[in-house]
Amino acid sequence: MQEELLKLVAETKKQLEHLRVLGVEGIQVTAAAAPAVVVERPKPAVTPRPEPIEAATPATPLTSLFGEVAPAPVKLTPSTETFEQIHAEIGDCTRCPLHLERTHVVHTEGNRKARLMFVGEAPGADEDIQARPFVGRAGQLLTKIIEAIGLKREEVLIGNVNRCRPPGNRAPTTEEATTCKPYLLREIASAQPEVIVVLGNTAMKNLLDTREGITRLRGRFQDYKGIKVMPTFHPAYLLRDPSKKRETWEDLKMVRDYLDGHP
Ligand code: URA
Repeated sequence: MQEELLKLVAETKKQLEHLRVLGVEGIQVTAAAAPAVVVERPKPAVTPRPEPIEAATPATPLTSLFGEVAPAPVKLTPSTETFEQIHAEIGDCTRCPLHLERTHVVHTEGNRKARLMFVGEAPGADEDIQARPFVGRAGQLLTKIIEAIGLKREEVLIGNVNRCRPPGNRAPTTEEATTCKPYLLREIASAQPEVIVVLGNTAMKNLLDTREGITRLRGRFQDYKGIKVMPTFHPAYLLRDPSKKRETWEDLKMVRDYLDGHP
């Protein structure tokens, strides 16, 4: 009996390994029915779904090939909050030390119904004075990048992880970013853009919660709660190293093509 069981386990492992090689990334397990094969891209040509198949309920856990429960993908919960409500709550913010040296809190600006949003790190000196994101030299380059994909600056949303200028333009600390980021996430839930371009390492790491660097992830769509996220270089970096403009252009063309392909 035990021998048979061991044989069965070995056979099953072999079968699962075979499916993995074919591109199957998980199987749905229901209590009564035979396991329904969940096929992810690329779709294997030879995976007949056993009939009848119980309709998978949302509660059905997705298990990986070897039994661990895979976390259900988190989807954005759309919110009906307005930017005005969010900005009113931020008020004359003193929640982190950055308030001590700032002139203005710099909120996200642009079209609240935009399909595309750009997220940077934190305001610089020009932004701090004008109370607007990306209006300095890096901002002027960002405007050109936006126009290069056939859009006007006013047609997109532009914001930052942090809304107050870090002294000397240093990167915000983890604590400062963690304090401010929820307001950006609430704006995202309110505006629900289809694509977010994260500019540079700090913005990318904060939105995607990743330890990967920008050089590794740029040019490849990532996911934030069902929203496509394209990491690319920060325009301030492009001012220092113009040779990186070519890669940035490639990344932005992918964004343009995605938006054009999903009108
Ligand atoms: N750099 C940023 O990350 N954000 C701005 O608003 C300006 C410069």
